[in-house]
Amino acid sequence: MSSFSEFPFRALPEALLPWYAACARPLPWRESRDPYRVWISEIMLQQTRVAAVLEYYARFLAALPDVFALASVDEARLLKLWEGLGYYRRARNLKRAAEVIVAEYGGVFPEAYAALRALPGIGDYTAGAIASICFDAPTPAIDGNVLRIAARLADCADCVDAPSTKRALHEALAAAYPPGQCGAFTQALMELGATVCLPGGAPRCAVCPAASLCRSRMHGTARELPVRAKKQQRRIEAYTALLLVDPDGRIALCKRPESGLLGGLWALPNAPGARGPQEALALAEAFGAKPLSLAASAEYTHVFTHVEWRITCYRIACAAPEGKSACIWADADARAAHYALPTAFAKALEHLHLEQR
Ligand code: SF4
Repeated sequence: MSSFSEFPFRALPEALLPWYAACARPLPWRESRDPYRVWISEIMLQQTRVAAVLEYYARFLAALPDVFALASVDEARLLKLWEGLGYYRRARNLKRAAEVIVAEYGGVFPEAYAALRALPGIGDYTAGAIASICFDAPTPAIDGNVLRIAARLADCADCVDAPSTKRALHEALAAAYPPGQCGAFTQALMELGATVCLPGGAPRCAVCPAASLCRSRMHGTARELPVRAKKQQRRIEAYTALLLVDPDGRIALCKRPESGLLGGLWALPNAPGARGPQEALALAEAFGAKPLSLAASAEYTHVFTHVEWRITCYRIACAAPEGKSACIWADADARAAHYALPTAFAKALEHLHLEQR
């Protein structure tokens, strides 16, 4: 076992770049070095798989083709474009950063790592990716994939979640960036992590372009690396969600408070705790609905990064809403056009068999 400072990362570009040129998957965000396009792809790819991102990416860019369009988009439309990708804060930060780029940089992306890093929603990884891919800067983009590859190459058993380990890798890797090919090197590392040096017990060492350099392959330790900090157990919370349906097939939606999980997003009327059927009917009244009958119920789980929601949901037929209500009532067309419903609540529509048309 050794440390990052002892490994010859400088030999890595020579091993990876020809392989990347020959084997890289053709992905739409690799067709251009336009920082807007690279930025949108990097943010979408955080916590979302490539296959799932492809459709969203095309639709998003068709609707918002540049930083000016993103800066001026209405938030409801933005969230609708993001619906299903989850982690909606990412979308809001995109808009906030676009506003800064328009206001402070005249709509032209800043090139310096520090200026990129200062934009809302752009962390070390994304700043490193944009600066290297779009502006050929020797700025590593270190995510879980790169930490895994580096730990295996160097046969390094230091905990990769420790800030000191990340700093050591950043320093060692930055010194290895090949001038003129920084973007390709960043992307070659990403590609290696996505297609060859896979997590868990599945590294494909037999087809790895860096195999001759790899110390963990030589020592038979690849499957034990990287060493990660113990994950905190997710907190479990119970909720009750109501699918209130009026005689015209419209359903009730309410806005969540601005702060907290899914802050400011549309939701089904809900309350903490797993409520029984009678309590659910009372809860519907508390939201200003006139419940007539309880039509169905279901239970499901929705997992966030740190929290797991156990949701009990009820479908309740309601009389036509009158007067003041804590909710708006939206039919399928209005929902499709204007109201982004996070997956945590959209799942209730499936479980309770609400036709989406
Ligand atoms: S040789 Fe195996 S463990 Fe080493 S970098 Fe390649 S795939 Fe990963």
